[in-house]
Amino acid sequence: MRFHVLTLFPEMIEQGFHTSITGRAMEKGLLSLNAVNIRDFAGNKHMKVDDYPYGGGAGMVMQAEPVYAAHQSLENQAGRKLRTIYLTPQGHTFNQKMAEEFAQEEELIFLCGHYEGIDERVLEEVVTDYVSIGDYVLTGGELPALVMMDTISRLVPGVLNNDVSAETESFQDSLLEYPQYSRPEEWRGKKVPSVLLSGHHANVEKWRREQSIIRTAKWRPDLLEKAQLTKKEQEFLKG
Ligand code: SAM
Repeated sequence: MRFHVLTLFPEMIEQGFHTSITGRAMEKGLLSLNAVNIRDFAGNKHMKVDDYPYGGGAGMVMQAEPVYAAHQSLENQAGRKLRTIYLTPQGHTFNQKMAEEFAQEEELIFLCGHYEGIDERVLEEVVTDYVSIGDYVLTGGELPALVMMDTISRLVPGVLNNDVSAETESFQDSLLEYPQYSRPEEWRGKKVPSVLLSGHHANVEKWRREQSIIRTAKWRPDLLEKAQLTKKEQEFLKG
């Protein structure tokens, strides 16, 4: 998977991504990152890429041409059109299903806005997907891009040491994941549930499934509508 990020702050993307699991996956060649500074395409000696909004109002707007030129440079290198995601609070809210779909692509471009956003005309030209990470407003698209890239990366085969862990995680089945425990067996008087120490694989699986259902019903009952529950599990929930 190759990620291109169009941004005014490439160092923020590079530092965020060259760490931990994603950093190791890059070393292994499973992921690659190309953070492109839009300012390099400013086309003026002051490297200015923003201007006042027409019609007045607070803040500055990122101008169309530098964003377009930076985007063109990527598509020219690739020799084809690339799926281009604009991070914006106005977009569809990002979720695991969208991550699974984006993970099917070989290359993705993330476009990060700053200030009051980007001139609408260039968005109409280059953007294929408008994505938000939630109903709140950040100062820029860099953290949202990192959130999306991290989520998508975990779905790229080989990035996680244990492929099963992506399959059993929260949202995979419209259920939240069961609680996890590690050593010691007893911590400050709290014991690890005995079934997890039993070595009985089927009982462990049964307990985990029940815990997932209980937890989802308690914290995210909205998810349960889409979860595939057996008749017995539905009765268990009612009881
Ligand atoms: N004026 C814009 C509006 O009201 O829709 C908000 C601009 S915001 C201050 C600057 C940039 O941060 C946006 O262009 C976008 O790239 C990014 N951004 C802010 N909040 C975001 C969110 N919830 N999801 C994704 N991107 C976001």
